[in-house]
Amino acid sequence: MSEPVVSVSGLTKHFPVRRGLLQRTVAMVRAVDGVSLDIAPGETLCLVGESGCGKSTVGRLILRLMEPTAGTIRLRGTDVTHLGDAAMRPHRRHAQMVFQDPYASLNPRLTVGTIVGEPLENYGDLDKQARTDKVAALLERVGLRADTMRRYAFEFSGGQRQRLGIARALALDPGLIVADEAVSALDVSVQAQVLNLLMDLQEERGLAFLFISHDLGVVEHIGHRIAVMYLGEIVEIAPKTAIFARPIHPYTEALIAAAPIADPRARTDRIVLEGDIPSPMNPPPGCRFHTRCPIAVPKCRESPPPLRQLTPDHAVACHLRGA
Ligand code: SF4
Repeated sequence: MSEPVVSVSGLTKHFPVRRGLLQRTVAMVRAVDGVSLDIAPGETLCLVGESGCGKSTVGRLILRLMEPTAGTIRLRGTDVTHLGDAAMRPHRRHAQMVFQDPYASLNPRLTVGTIVGEPLENYGDLDKQARTDKVAALLERVGLRADTMRRYAFEFSGGQRQRLGIARALALDPGLIVADEAVSALDVSVQAQVLNLLMDLQEERGLAFLFISHDLGVVEHIGHRIAVMYLGEIVEIAPKTAIFARPIHPYTEALIAAAPIADPRARTDRIVLEGDIPSPMNPPPGCRFHTRCPIAVPKCRESPPPLRQLTPDHAVACHLRGA
């Protein structure tokens, strides 16, 4: 197997909650707790879970947009966990991001040429003409006309803006793109076009994607493997076909049961998740899912289940399932 584009081990992020005049730390928000995963070239790993489960924080940690509390991040084999800005600079071009909101993520006062060309100006070594040519080629590749580079981002629809965001992310020829809810703000018909564009680009360029989404329909379309997160931890990770055909963790099962399907009558064993996700400031002891798990036993309240490898590519954290 080729070297992973990204490999993280024991990744942890706790945010201090400060109160009072002296801003004393009164609690910690345990947003991400011991996440390990890797992504191969040309692979899409989808990170799924309810909002607040820590999936977006994992994406930002991998891109070193925030400092991890613990764990290691390796980009193309190099440990970048604690690199400073200058040392991190050559690695940034290999890992880029596509944001959720195409309206908020592009500066409306800048022309498209400036937005898409900015990474080339900041990190590349191309002269002005070569940059302009590259921006034109990128725009055409994502399905926009080259002459749109003189227009402003606010002149475009949501789907077109997300294409601009993708063109900008591709400008430095990265090996990894972190796409955080990249299509969730778009209409369904536009979503499919953008997903197909991402899949075509992946095939052409051998791109790896960390695709963060709460939408299992989208994940089923684009993913190769799926990692399910609950309260900062991965509870199941497996190829997409295994997750959808035979989910093992009760939380994965509940998520899939709750996903909209064309014919609801086709589903007979629907598991309904009750209650809200507990606060990451005070996660339940033992298995973090035990407060909502329909099959919890006393042991679940006492000891956290380790993430066990059931097969070389399928791991689950549950005391009862897959044992
Ligand atoms: Fe449910 Fe217990 Fe498994 Fe957690 S360890 S998912 S509470 S059965």
